[in-house]
Amino acid sequence: TAYGFRQVGKGEKQGLVNEVFHKVAGRYDLMNDLMSAGMHRVWKDAMVTWLNPPKTRPDWRLLDVAGGTGDIAFRIVEASGRNAHATVLDINGSMLSVGRDRADKRGLSAYVDFVEANAEELPFEDNTFDAYTVAFGIRNVPRIDVALQEAYRVLKPGGRIMVLEFSEVTMPGLDKFYDAWSFNAIPRIGDAVTGDGEPYRYLVESIRKFPNQKNFAAMIEGAGFKRVTWRDYSSGIAACHSGWKL
Ligand code: SAM
Repeated sequence: TAYGFRQVGKGEKQGLVNEVFHKVAGRYDLMNDLMSAGMHRVWKDAMVTWLNPPKTRPDWRLLDVAGGTGDIAFRIVEASGRNAHATVLDINGSMLSVGRDRADKRGLSAYVDFVEANAEELPFEDNTFDAYTVAFGIRNVPRIDVALQEAYRVLKPGGRIMVLEFSEVTMPGLDKFYDAWSFNAIPRIGDAVTGDGEPYRYLVESIRKFPNQKNFAAMIEGAGFKRVTWRDYSSGIAACHSGWKL
C-alpha cells in the first residue's frame, strides 16, 4: 500500500506524516479523544504535574515541539498561573492554525506563540528555554537523535526535557487488548472520521517501532542529558521521560 510501513524511508516518512496531519488538523482533537478513549488528557495532565512549572516567573520559557494544536503549551501556561511563556513549534502549518484559533478562544494569545519549523533544525539560539516538551511527536521525527541534540542545544543549563510518547505495555493481558485496539479500532476510527484508515495503520506501526522505556532513556542520555528517568502511564501504554541539561 502507499503507506506500507516497511517500504518507508526517512525522507518519505516525513512526507507521509505531514500528509496525515494536514488532512486531519481540523478534526485532530476529536480524533485524539476517540483513539485514546480520552486517556491522552490524563497523560498530558500527569506530564504537566510532573514538570510543575513555576508560578512566579514570567521570564520562564517553554518550547513545546511537535506541539500541534497546543494541548501541552496551554496546560503548562495555565499551570504556571498564566506566568510562563510558551512557544509551540510544529512542522505543520495546518495544525498550528488550529492551535492559534484555540489560543485566541481561551484568551491565551499573549502567552503562546507559534512557529512553523522542523524539530531537527530549531530556529533558536543556544541556551534559550527553561523547558522543552514533546508529546506524541518525537516518534514522527525521522532523525530522533538529531531532534534530541537540538533540544539539548536550545535548553538553558539547568533546563529540563520531558517527552511523552507511546511506549511498551508492561501488564500481561493488557498488551493483547491494546494490540487489538491499535490494529483494528484505530484504523477504523480513522476511516470513519477522515475517510481513510491507511495513514493510521502507519501511525500504529510507528508506535511498535519506537524504542521501549529503557532504550529511549539511553537515547536521551546519548544527547547529553543527565538524571534521565521515566514514569509509565496506564501500565506503559504511554511513558513520560524526564532529563536535565546540567
Ligand atoms: N503534541 C500534540 C499533542 O500531543 O496533541 C500533537 C501531537 S501529533 C500526534 C504529532 C505532531 O508532530 C503533528 O502536529 C506533526 O505535524 C508534528 N511533527 C511531525 N514531524 C515533525 C517534525 N519533524 N518537526 C516538528 N513537528 C513535527
